[in-house]
Amino acid sequence: MSGTNNSKFTFNQSVQYYFDKASALTEHSEGLLSQIKACNSVIRMRFPVKVKGEYHTLEAYRAQHSHHKTPCKGGIRYSEGVDQDEVIALASLMTYKCAIVDVPFGGAKGGIKINPKKYTTGQLQRITRRYTTELIKKNFIGPAIDVPAPDYGTGAREMSWILDTFVTFNPGMIDAYGCVTGKPVTQSGIRGRVEATGRGVFFGVREAVSVAEDMKALGLTTGIEGKRIVVQGLGNVGFHSAKIFQENGAHVIGVAEYEGAIYDPTGKGFDIDALFEHRTHTGSILNFPGAKNIENSSEALELDCDILIPAAIERVITAENAPRIKAKIIAEAANGPTTPEAEEILLERGIMVLPDVYLNAGGVTVSYFEWLKNLSHVRFGRMSKRHEEMVQRRFVDAIEQNTGKKLRPEERNLIIQGGSEVDIVRSGLEDTMMGAYQDIHATWKTYNGVRDLRTAAFVVAINKVATSYIELGIFP
Ligand code: GLU
Repeated sequence: MSGTNNSKFTFNQSVQYYFDKASALTEHSEGLLSQIKACNSVIRMRFPVKVKGEYHTLEAYRAQHSHHKTPCKGGIRYSEGVDQDEVIALASLMTYKCAIVDVPFGGAKGGIKINPKKYTTGQLQRITRRYTTELIKKNFIGPAIDVPAPDYGTGAREMSWILDTFVTFNPGMIDAYGCVTGKPVTQSGIRGRVEATGRGVFFGVREAVSVAEDMKALGLTTGIEGKRIVVQGLGNVGFHSAKIFQENGAHVIGVAEYEGAIYDPTGKGFDIDALFEHRTHTGSILNFPGAKNIENSSEALELDCDILIPAAIERVITAENAPRIKAKIIAEAANGPTTPEAEEILLERGIMVLPDVYLNAGGVTVSYFEWLKNLSHVRFGRMSKRHEEMVQRRFVDAIEQNTGKKLRPEERNLIIQGGSEVDIVRSGLEDTMMGAYQDIHATWKTYNGVRDLRTAAFVVAINKVATSYIELGIFP
């Protein structure tokens, strides 16, 4: 699926390159900046797993990039691409991401170098439990220490296994359920977490396309309605992004996956649920009724569209394909999909890049809500929903009595309804993504020397982490 990756930077070097570009514009001391940039701790693990009577030695990592706020936070990925450089790069992105959306955590990331598709469920469970045990032994997991979550190749199922292992080794720890997020709702997870990254991508793009002046410069109209979207990756993030864009009037005209890509020659856009169903049944997105197949999946990145959403892996937009990209906006739902060389070309061509450190922060934002729920041991809305409804009912009754007019029952119900957990989560996420965009946008437009949104996002992040270190007295 990836393009030819001809970057001179490793993934971690590219994150450092973005950091350096932004930090040069700030006024912090060299010592403070080098502390913010450095990855504080990394553990590398090797452990055996027995597969069909044979032992395989697996390689795994957990990196804690920053402890300016604790616990550390970040996903765990299962992929053959996992190595120390990647885990450190992703952990650093988590630090900046959390700072941008005001989630009070340091950044972390873990990974096991496996292709999960090659293992049975039982084997994956053993691998996950063994990895968790290693983290426990090294004091690299816990609700106040380091809180993993899903990432590429993992999901709610793996988080349940992590939880069960942690709870088993920590009997009596009352906040133990906060040791991991992205759990199933029935295991103290939170409603709205699965879709959170995709919904956050939607809110972020919606903010960006609402600024008339920026859209004019791109030759686009404001608003989501009618925008032509291409999505790379139909995993959790890509699927939910695509579905939410479709629900809000955009046309998803292209979708790319490992097996190939498809596009809609009519321009009306795919029905994402139907496409997902088709893939589940046939094992492929190809040959979807009404769609045209594209054999070479990465060519989908070059389709004529308004918004391109890379939602799979890193380094797919490179110096090689960047000159041919036709999208006006690149919405980085994945972590690190654009190489620095590609970004130079895109910016030069006037393409807007909505950077990963901001745009995919919806996942960790709702992870934060889940962690808060776990520490408070109560579902959001449980104590307040009926009370809110009672107050609102009295209010509507008073208006009806005083005006002598009655609302229609559906209007009345809509006004009276108290917030359920998913309503509260979605509105918290919306507010977070809107507020963070306004910060980044203002920095882009007004901060001396900032010329693009990624640099703006890094400046915002660096300034917030720096403030922490200064206020804590660690730096003068
Ligand atoms: N893996 C996700 C990310 O890269 C979520 C991390 C979390 O929820 O802690 O942002």
